[in-house]
Amino acid sequence: MNKSDDFLSESTNQQPSSEPASNGHALGEEDTHGVSLSAEVRNALSNDEDVQNTAVQNTAVPDLGIQNKSVHRRKKRAQKPNWYLITVAIGVLLGWAFYTFAWPPLYQSIRVFLQPNRAYFEKGLESPVRELYQTCEYLAVLWFFYLGASIGSFFNVLAGRLPEGRGVVFGGSKCPFCQTRLSFRDNIPIFGWLSCKGRCSTCKLPIAPRYLLIELLVGSLFVLIAGRELFSGGANLPNFNVLMYAGIIWTVFYPKWYLIGAFVYHAMFFATLVMLSVADQEKTRFPWRAVAFFGMVFAVIKLVRLDLNFVRWFDWLPLTSLPIGLLGNALITVVLGGVFGGIFGLFAGRLFPPYVQEKSRTHWLQVSFLTGIVFGWQAVLVTGLGAMLLTWLSVILAPVRKKYPSQLFFGILVSTILVHHMFWRQIDSIIKPLVPF
Ligand SMILES: [Zn+2]
Repeated sequence: MNKSDDFLSESTNQQPSSEPASNGHALGEEDTHGVSLSAEVRNALSNDEDVQNTAVQNTAVPDLGIQNKSVHRRKKRAQKPNWYLITVAIGVLLGWAFYTFAWPPLYQSIRVFLQPNRAYFEKGLESPVRELYQTCEYLAVLWFFYLGASIGSFFNVLAGRLPEGRGVVFGGSKCPFCQTRLSFRDNIPIFGWLSCKGRCSTCKLPIAPRYLLIELLVGSLFVLIAGRELFSGGANLPNFNVLMYAGIIWTVFYPKWYLIGAFVYHAMFFATLVMLSVADQEKTRFPWRAVAFFGMVFAVIKLVRLDLNFVRWFDWLPLTSLPIGLLGNALITVVLGGVFGGIFGLFAGRLFPPYVQEKSRTHWLQVSFLTGIVFGWQAVLVTGLGAMLLTWLSVILAPVRKKYPSQLFFGILVSTILVHHMFWRQIDSIIKPLVPF
């Protein structure tokens, strides 16, 4: 009880400031000392409530006593277990136990319930092998999550640095308050933030939880895309022979590289979108030079790996491929996608309500351009119109019009593109027959 109290008070006492500018301007020694001292005082009060309640209230709180106590407490803190890390470890273990032992019978009963007429197709695995199989799957999911978290961590740094024109590769991350360079241990995704309990390990001031949240978000995004695109055997990919033997084991442990390549390509695109979202959220302008660089990388990969051109430029048109080879047609697909995305984005920017910020319009244009390169002009059309419709709906339904947040508008666009990717094949198969040919 006492420990959980401490845990709570620590996480609520010092709310991380959302505006580092106002906080960071004059953080001399006095300020930092004040913050840490007040924290210690509050901890001391909440910790020893039952023992020293009367003593603290009745006496006039001698300054010297509390200072001594805080020093004493700091020594004690160093030996305290890190409950953040312990909670994560217990959560991972519980998740493993659930997925390995409880999920298979649960899944079976769900399937019997959903398809009572169909005989249940079991994986045909007996007890020890089945647990091993489930464990492998669980580890694979954890690995994909952590891969996403690592990439999210890197792109999050880029989101802060690129708009300021700072270097990407050189110069490690620094604490925004005391300018101490972060150690290798502090830079480890998720665990770095948890192991120092969201504080700078030198000055103990709170680090914005944005870093942790973005890592968790991109990690979840990777698991979601992997589940839909990779583990399913490509069930969302248009013009693709969906694998008969899907599942994590058959796509990852007996690697189907062409499918893994498609997953990595699309997952990187969504990590780029998250980076743009962070820039949009921070109200900075994401530079066109960086967008051009990412667009070029995505375009070149598509020209080197022709199997990533799932939708070709002539799809949805009463046309066929030109007799200029696969590479020539892929080039048209990529160039047409980028140009169409750019033009569509320009027009879309004009069609938005006036209180959407100019920067957000630019970000929409950048996303539209990249979407055209990665998914083709067809995807620009579907996601652009869909997001436009949803944006106008949200504007009409929003109770306060003048305070319409631009960030919401960007979130709608990115989620529309994500949903489109989840059902890309299905959308394609609905629209294709409508085209007269
Ligand atoms: Zn610091």
